[in-house]
Amino acid sequence: MLSVPATLEELARVFLLHGRQCYLVGGAIRDMLLGRRSTDYDIATDALPQQVQAMFKRVIPTGIKHGTVTVLFRGVRFEVTTFRIDREYLDGRRPDTVVFTPSIEEDLRRRDFTVNAIAFDLSTRRLLDPHDGRGDLHRRLIRAIGDPLERFREDGLRPVRACRFAAQFRFEVEPTTFAAIPECLDTVRKVSCERIREEVVRLLAAPQPSLGFRLMASCGLLALLLPELQAGAGVQQRAMHCFDVLEHSLRSCDAAAPENLPVRLAALLHDIGKPGASRQEEDGVLSFHGHEKLSAELAVGLLTRLRFSNQLIQQTRHLVLHHMFNYTGQWSDAAVRRFIARVGEEHIPDLLALRRADQVGTCGDSSPSAALAAFSKRLEDVLAAARALTLKDLAVDGRDVMGALRLPPGPHIGVLLAHLLESVLEDPQLNRKESLLAIAGRFYEERLR
Ligand code: ATP
Ligand code: MG
Repeated sequence: MLSVPATLEELARVFLLHGRQCYLVGGAIRDMLLGRRSTDYDIATDALPQQVQAMFKRVIPTGIKHGTVTVLFRGVRFEVTTFRIDREYLDGRRPDTVVFTPSIEEDLRRRDFTVNAIAFDLSTRRLLDPHDGRGDLHRRLIRAIGDPLERFREDGLRPVRACRFAAQFRFEVEPTTFAAIPECLDTVRKVSCERIREEVVRLLAAPQPSLGFRLMASCGLLALLLPELQAGAGVQQRAMHCFDVLEHSLRSCDAAAPENLPVRLAALLHDIGKPGASRQEEDGVLSFHGHEKLSAELAVGLLTRLRFSNQLIQQTRHLVLHHMFNYTGQWSDAAVRRFIARVGEEHIPDLLALRRADQVGTCGDSSPSAALAAFSKRLEDVLAAARALTLKDLAVDGRDVMGALRLPPGPHIGVLLAHLLESVLEDPQLNRKESLLAIAGRFYEERLR
């Protein structure tokens, strides 16, 4: 028997008191049956949205057009949706009109996959499972309800969701369902970028996103939605690599931590410039010189197209752009400080995580190289020793320099300060007011006057 959180039981009693039905549906019930924790609860009811609004004190009309309101009850959010039938997916994007129905069976029939169409009646504590979702949970299958092609042509997001769910639960997509995907790519093309993005984000939170991306590659979804990534298929690399660019990208992505989206994205995209940057050198050796710049550019294009936030785009771009550092024990402390100044101290943990993932993705070796561990230690030491890594850390500012040298404001002050920072990165001992002003005076006389 399912054990349901007490708050959910209390919520159900309110529905019962008003003579309304109350089912737990969708992801929450599926996750419970899989023995996973679920955090968002979708409720289905025969009560109309306005009636739900009247039953609870705090209700947000989240998607009232589609019959959904959010009920805040005892500090928990519940998405409450009136039983509905979706009519006429004319453009393959979203139902044009929704029709409410008093029947939970009809409501379950419009859902995407059998495992997502199980309902738990909270008043009688009975499971309703007309499409044998439990059977498919047991068989570990993602299976469309009804005719897969018809269902996918109603809403082109469903094929992407199939691949996402398969990766999330390590299920397979049932063969007939999977075979329908190449037939409906024209419908997938029409889906809004925001909806695609949400599925990509959920896929990137799976333990092994590669499972979903490989499915997408084999049915044409990847070429359609993420062509920059698909372009790496079959692109061979240099000798130390075991995989082509696509497989390397997917394995690197898997190796990054699921909860760190920017690093997972950067790992996925860090080499997408390789196909375009690939050159055959005179000695016959392959080179990908400068690919990090092209990768960063392509990543920005891809993420902008999917309408990711500007902050996430810039963060990912920065990591991709700087992923090619080549540390050796020969680096001087000054070189380590210049690296920190260039990359930004706050990005260093992510950049190291990206490199670790990149290394795991190279040949499947899961222990980080000794060089990377040594670099990590070295960075810590240098950071602990030197606290002057940005203009803000300098013992003087623009006003000090202008005052001491009697200079008017202007771009030359920026040039002077940049030179002072370079001097301090070279030798942290110089970060004192007198030394810096002396250096500034000399530099001004020799180079700027
Ligand atoms: P997750 O745990 O990732 O949130 P979920 O199954 O709850 O998974 P949601 O996108 O939150 O997924 O959707 C909730 C439910 O709504 C699904 O379980 C499914 O029954 C139904 N649903 C969602 N999107 C679609 C769709 N595009 N077509 C048909 N039914 C859908
Ligand atoms: Mg959900």
